[in-house]
Amino acid sequence: MLMWRPCHRSCIPVAHSSSAVAEAAPEQQVVPLYSGKRAVVVGAGPAGSTAAMFLARQGFAVDVHERRPEPKQDAVDTGRAYIIILIPRGQAALQELGVPLPSQREFITKGTVRHNKKGKIGISREEGNVTFSRSSLAQYLIDQARQRYPAQITFHFNSACAGVDIPQRQVSFSVAGGGRVQQQYDLLVGADGAGSQVRQALQQHYPDMQVSIDDSGREYKVYGGVRGDIEPEEFRRDPGATLHLWSSDDPWTTVTAHSNPDGTYSGTFSLKTGGFSDLKTVADYEALLRKKFVGVPDDWLPVIAEQAAASTPSPAGKRVRCSRLDGPGVLLLGDAAHAVTPVFGQGANSALESCKVLGTVLTEAGGDVSQVPQRFTSSRLADMHALNELDAKAYSFFRRRGLLDPDFLQLLSHVLLGTILSKLLPFLYGRQPALLKLGSTTPYSIIIAAVKRDSLMAAVGFAALGVWLSLKLAVKVMAGV
Ligand SMILES: Cc1cc2nc3c(=O)[nH]c(=O)nc-3n(C[C@H](O)[C@H](O)[C@H](O)COP(=O)(O)OP(=O)(O)OC[C@H]3O[C@@H](n4cnc5c(N)ncnc54)[C@H](O)[C@@H]3O)c2cc1C
Repeated sequence: MLMWRPCHRSCIPVAHSSSAVAEAAPEQQVVPLYSGKRAVVVGAGPAGSTAAMFLARQGFAVDVHERRPEPKQDAVDTGRAYIIILIPRGQAALQELGVPLPSQREFITKGTVRHNKKGKIGISREEGNVTFSRSSLAQYLIDQARQRYPAQITFHFNSACAGVDIPQRQVSFSVAGGGRVQQQYDLLVGADGAGSQVRQALQQHYPDMQVSIDDSGREYKVYGGVRGDIEPEEFRRDPGATLHLWSSDDPWTTVTAHSNPDGTYSGTFSLKTGGFSDLKTVADYEALLRKKFVGVPDDWLPVIAEQAAASTPSPAGKRVRCSRLDGPGVLLLGDAAHAVTPVFGQGANSALESCKVLGTVLTEAGGDVSQVPQRFTSSRLADMHALNELDAKAYSFFRRRGLLDPDFLQLLSHVLLGTILSKLLPFLYGRQPALLKLGSTTPYSIIIAAVKRDSLMAAVGFAALGVWLSLKLAVKVMAGV
């Protein structure tokens, strides 16, 4: 998470106990309609492993191919530098599978501490959310998939998708040591992230398929292993996973810190894309950090500077919009289909939600695998376009065109009017503006519709007020003549 996300109150209880995982919710029993069918999943990120479980639950034999080594064997360990907070939207998919959430308190998200550019602190508490590093979430889901479906799900690491023959329903992989393997499938799931190979194969198959990819315009570097007494009193009394976010005088430049179970902190240092290339030495990094931030512990600055100077930047997310999510025997989900920037903390959560939608579609297709991809697009596309639009609107914060930015005005007027209406007419309007329900399972298309409706109402209200005031003034002037 790099910037801002609304507070989410969970409707799914997460146990606070010393055991490793919360009591598993009972798995919803389904009839295995697809026994004898083979699914191939490309990518063992959060979406790939979760999709594999939904497929296996319905009877598929599933092969998951991942181009990287298994996360626990991957040399890069940045602790919780790159975190994913699972909110009720994402948790609902795991709950349906009966996959328990970790319940050790270091996983339970306590909240966010925002340090503004003057060093002032704002605290928001969160309940029921669970904090993972990206690699620990990926590993957790791989372990769950193996444990729950040992006879049906097989993982192949160091196996990179190298091409898909859509008409022949065949996919090929480059494997460690330089070889190639080919696999036939009944269903191919592209869960291979924002740069998806499977999506590219679909684009070749459908020349009219439209895919737009926007860059977040930010890059980040990670650091870790620092210690310090930075928790405000209320989090110190009740420890858990906290996120600290330091802002600067420009919206692109931020530092985050996340507490790790071992008491250290890891985090990110972000700049506008290209900004890191201006920093040549460790001293340049440290000077910029000192200039931009108030309140980052003094002894952290040389450490962040040294680690950041020694690493290469990663893009802080892309926004992907596809005109379709399916082809014959193929579907896309997760970042491959609908990546968003970390601004609202929705990427992994929407990816898991897409897997849950896949589960529903598998049931609805009644065992006819040929129906699954197209039904998936019908069920999911509108919500994914709505999420894309919301994410793009949130970027008004970075554009900083001021109060007249139409996207900023839309979001602001929705939240202001929604807050007033939810206080005055909760039975008619609901208890909070829809944008603040991003963490819940409210469909994204309902949220964007509410944003547009409320901002239109606010605009009409303002216009009517303007006309009324002008008329009043005119009457006064005429009365005085
Ligand atoms: C800094 C940062 C913070 C974030 N914080 C949050 C957050 O708090 N909450 C949230 O919901 N989201 C967050 N996100 C977004 C989240 O990380 C992604 O949306 C999520 O990881 C998507 O999961 P995925 O499985 O679809 O894709 P990925 O996680 O990208 O996984 C795709 C997998 O496919 C593999 N792969 C790629 N190409 C191939 C190939 N050719 N063959 C085989 N395998 C391949 C990759 O190695 C990878 O393991 C954050 C993102 C960033 C950058």
